Amino acid sequence: MAAEDYEIVDERFGRYVRTSARVEKLYEGSRWAEGPAYFAAGRYLVWSDIPNDRMLRWDETTGSVGVFRSPAGYTNGHTVDREGRLVSCEHGARRLTRTEHDGSITVIADRFDGKRLNSPNDVVVASDGAVWFTDPTYGIDSDYEGYRAESEIGASNVYRVDPQTGACEVAADDFVRPNGLAFSPDERKLYVSDTGMTHVADGPRHIRVFDVGRSGALRGGEVFATCTAGMFDGFRFDEEGRLWTSAGDGVHCYDGDGTLLGKVRVPETVANVTFGGPRRNRLFICATTSLYAVLLPFAGATRP
Ligand code: MG
Repeated sequence: MAAEDYEIVDERFGRYVRTSARVEKLYEGSRWAEGPAYFAAGRYLVWSDIPNDRMLRWDETTGSVGVFRSPAGYTNGHTVDREGRLVSCEHGARRLTRTEHDGSITVIADRFDGKRLNSPNDVVVASDGAVWFTDPTYGIDSDYEGYRAESEIGASNVYRVDPQTGACEVAADDFVRPNGLAFSPDERKLYVSDTGMTHVADGPRHIRVFDVGRSGALRGGEVFATCTAGMFDGFRFDEEGRLWTSAGDGVHCYDGDGTLLGKVRVPETVANVTFGGPRRNRLFICATTSLYAVLLPFAGATRP
């Protein structure tokens, strides 16, 4: 029964999913799947398999999966920028990069204030071209998903790379371990998860929300939602402003007011999601060893 793939917490959730649509497994064989990015022009999805130091690609036209890049610099989160280019967080070289249309790689940021970044984790590009990313320590905490090292910065911050100057600026410095991030569809609010419970007893496992001012200044930062199963890692918005987030038991869907509406159950811990498909109404789910997808009755937000 496909209905078993869903848990309806708020009755509205019944309109936001088709309970006859199964959660489909598209691929199995990753160690830790992360960072899904869908390319509409090529009809493929790229994602990271972090401990295996490779990126995989699922072809929507055939269902086949191949290696996109290996070694891959222990990439984690990815996004697609306004020009359709892949933007990647690399644990290995502790940097943020862009893959150009000709295949060459451009470094967007690798230092702040002269010090090496920790290990960029997740990234979004705003409509004005600003690149926002989180920089926790997971890629330098051990040799499992990068190279063990001390933090030079000594803090885990959220950064914004200015589209005009290319300068890397601290956008928020009061996180324990900032992780996933996404803008609301109107880009007036930025949401950032904190997975600090991995390092601090009773530490944060929530998503915070900020108002985004002109030139990217953040205000506010109150807790939007606290995870009820594991931790929130990466997440995305749909076109109507609902938030679909990774969690320990699947994908949790929140209303814009912070109400938990329901869950898409996934049999593995989910790390990240993205909308894709020709009509952008397929939710791709990176969950530990596997890539899953579920078709929804509406589309994801325009900006990934
Ligand atoms: Mg993450």
